[in-house]
Amino acid sequence: MMESVKQNKMKKVAIIGGGIVGATAAYLLSKNSNYVTTLFDSGKGQATKAAAGIISPWLSKRRNQQWYALAKDGAAYIDDLAQETQMTADTYLQSGTIVTRKRSADLDELEQLALKHRQTAPEIGEIQRVSAEEIQSLLPLVTADLEGIFVSGGARIDGNNFVNHLVKLGEKNGLRFVHAEVQLKDEQTVLVNEKLENFDFVLVCAGAGIKRLLSPLNYEVRVHSQKGQLIELKVPAYSNDVSAPVLMPEGEKDFMPVGNGQLIIGATHENNPENTTAFTDSALHELLTSAIRIDSRLSEKNLVANRVGMRAFTDDFAPFFGWLPDSQHIMVASGLGSSGLTTGPLIAKLMVSLIETPNHFSNYQKEISNYIHKKG
Ligand SMILES: Cc1cc2nc3c(=O)[nH]c(=O)nc-3n(C[C@H](O)[C@H](O)[C@H](O)COP(=O)(O)OP(=O)(O)OC[C@H]3O[C@@H](n4cnc5c(N)ncnc54)[C@H](O)[C@@H]3O)c2cc1C
Repeated sequence: MMESVKQNKMKKVAIIGGGIVGATAAYLLSKNSNYVTTLFDSGKGQATKAAAGIISPWLSKRRNQQWYALAKDGAAYIDDLAQETQMTADTYLQSGTIVTRKRSADLDELEQLALKHRQTAPEIGEIQRVSAEEIQSLLPLVTADLEGIFVSGGARIDGNNFVNHLVKLGEKNGLRFVHAEVQLKDEQTVLVNEKLENFDFVLVCAGAGIKRLLSPLNYEVRVHSQKGQLIELKVPAYSNDVSAPVLMPEGEKDFMPVGNGQLIIGATHENNPENTTAFTDSALHELLTSAIRIDSRLSEKNLVANRVGMRAFTDDFAPFFGWLPDSQHIMVASGLGSSGLTTGPLIAKLMVSLIETPNHFSNYQKEISNYIHKKG
């Protein structure tokens, strides 16, 4: 009897989308005994699993202060979450990042920016100007002559391992995971495998899929899709050292040795692609030629895999999250763009807090009505 009374008080939550936002929200809700949570994921076009996984927002040139606050606090939160859930190095690792500049005046400017940001973001860690020789000692196969700034707090995530880890922990706490593409029939009803299910709250964490999900409810969502492709190379001679830093060379693709001879090169940024899912020859050419400019010994023979994902982005390249305008049941998050692994876990945490306490988080974002409105 007591048990059924308790269950009646529990709120049913549906999360649509098991990328980094949905998986983190699902894990966090699974720890709260006030909620019974179901996570639906179609597994199609997920950005999280395709992503390079670089967490290093402090040296970005972006001027949007709300985005920077979200990314800086997001990077700090990921570290907390990784410790809380005991993530292993193949899921989250503080490897350090090196950002290069060709002109020494630009390098001075970057170093000043890093030092300024460290005042409010101690997570950036040690800041060090590195010469070509020092870069080559950290990344022995780099043949290009590069100079940069090393920050020890930079990290990398394996998106696939990250979401799988959180979903697995969530399932241990009672999370229900359903692998299916779903539709929203009204604010509280989800159509899944031809059956209707009712929920108290629905969290739409569907990345680029948000438009399609909300269109039947008469919402217009101003998000666009951008295709991102990257390649994985196997370089037997490459260091087995899993802790090698991520290299972000100016004007080139990011260069990420992740241990065991695996090297990730990425990513492309393609607006309005003709084909949203296929890996293309032009991407291979763009990525490989960039990689070869960094390590002249690489070739197509090293290629072992590719990844393709769709980023959702907004007109001002800023993410949005919160209650859908005019709704008490649906919350949304999208538009995380090319830094969503950095901001996604914090966005999920803030969404979960919004279920219990109203807030807008204006330090992190503009009004949601800038991105979504009800038609007619
Ligand atoms: C190639 C590439 C490289 C990137 N590199 C980085 C990086 O280095 N650092 C960084 O911070 N960010 C990076 N990003 C950006 C980051 O990956 C994304 O911003 C972030 O993963 C978005 O997370 P999300 O949870 O919002 O969406 P997603 O990861 O796209 O997840 C949305 C999920 O919703 C599901 N879904 C959609 N519609 C439905 C439906 N109707 N029913 C059921 N499920 C549905 C999809 O299948 C998908 O699994 C990169 C992205 C790409 C593509």
